[in-house]
Amino acid sequence: MSREPGQSGGEVDPLLRFGDPKDRVRRSARRAWSVFAHRVAGQCETWLKRGFDILLATAQLLVLWPLLLLLRLVYGPMRRYPQLGRWCEPFDEFAFAIPVVGPHRIVRALRLHRLPALFNILRGDMSFVGPRPVNVGPAVRDRLYRRTCSARPGLVCLHWIRSRSNIDFEGEAASDAEYESGAGLRTDVGIALRAVPVLVYGSEDTEVPETVSLLGIRIDNYTMADAIDRLMADMAGTTPTHVCFVNADCANISAVNAHYRGVLARAAVVLADGIGMKIAGKLKRQPIRQNVNGTDLFPRLCAEMEAAGRSVYLLGGKPGVADGVRDWIEAHHPGLRVAGVQHGYFPPEQEPEVIAAIRSVQPSLLLVAMGAPRQDEWVAEHLAEAGARVGMGVGGLFDFFSGRVSRAPQWVRDVGFEWAFRLLQEPGRLWKRYVIGNVVFLWRIAWYRPDADAGRG
Ligand code: UDP
Repeated sequence: MSREPGQSGGEVDPLLRFGDPKDRVRRSARRAWSVFAHRVAGQCETWLKRGFDILLATAQLLVLWPLLLLLRLVYGPMRRYPQLGRWCEPFDEFAFAIPVVGPHRIVRALRLHRLPALFNILRGDMSFVGPRPVNVGPAVRDRLYRRTCSARPGLVCLHWIRSRSNIDFEGEAASDAEYESGAGLRTDVGIALRAVPVLVYGSEDTEVPETVSLLGIRIDNYTMADAIDRLMADMAGTTPTHVCFVNADCANISAVNAHYRGVLARAAVVLADGIGMKIAGKLKRQPIRQNVNGTDLFPRLCAEMEAAGRSVYLLGGKPGVADGVRDWIEAHHPGLRVAGVQHGYFPPEQEPEVIAAIRSVQPSLLLVAMGAPRQDEWVAEHLAEAGARVGMGVGGLFDFFSGRVSRAPQWVRDVGFEWAFRLLQEPGRLWKRYVIGNVVFLWRIAWYRPDADAGRG
């Protein structure tokens, strides 16, 4: 009986099965060393961060003690707020109880009520940057999550930045999980830097009106979740709903274009898009709840529409661009039906044909990307005739989702500088809109008087 190479008496040679034992030992040793080195590096970073926290908290207390004393005299003793820290350990966070009225607002806006948390940092309960502290009371989900969280809660956290500056992301626990997964000194420095502009223009979502009026434009003060609920409800209804996104540029156009102003006034839903509107709301004491821009809303809306079996028609962009968006939808939300696509550079005589094509498929949602004010005027004029349930102008959205233009990185969006990123991408086309437009917008906001609208169309 002949033996196969590597076999001895019908058994596979262990050398071939497991490789050279010396090699295996070497590989295991390398793996163990890399795990060990990784752990040591992580531990060093933790110690470094702790050392930095202690140094900075001590330095701040040495400089700020007269201010702390003054706050103590004005607002009484520090309060203790029970919180859950890392590994779910309870601790009391120190803070002053400061009312959100009159001049006290300024003290709160400067976050001085949380100055006593410097003692928490010294005690090791907290850190300058970390996940948000969780109240002992609510959400089992949060408590479960916190059990696995090794980072000390931070005075500044990702969710704090996002809830004040920008759109509603995935929620608090998700922001914490994002922090935990990328935790490190670089992340902390990035978050600390992002907190600075947010401190200047951010606002606390305490009491916000249902609608606000900026430069005479009525804005529905929706959160992203509210907006999606409203759109989904309207897709199930029978009345066509026109939705407009208004950013600083749109507000500038509306100030000089009576027709567009009328379109916005008659739209069923008007959403505040961009950091400019957020700043304007803050200046005018008409706080905007969230930055509800189309580009962030779109993927979430697609997910909801897919679950509900809805359809979408894509109209606008350069030839081929809407096809790119269709590809994105098919790859990410295969259950959402793309009822049709049409580029946005068709001649006026082709318009009846375009409308008839949309009407023939009766889409739940019609997205029109032709730039403001044209896209919104188009939807206002043709939505009912086109037979879509909900229609909205979405500006550059098709360019982003088709991959033609890349979007600003997350940290740039967090601090509200997406406009600057776009300006760098297309300075020739956008300098007027952003460099001049932003200044004109702020100037208009500062000098706007509601009675000036009385005589206008
Ligand atoms: N567009 C179009 N038809 C036109 C003019 C513009 O389809 O007659 C498209 C253009 O290709 C771009 C979008 O409309 O995809 C407008 O983008 P813009 O950057 O102006 O929008 P924003 O997001 O800044 O409002």
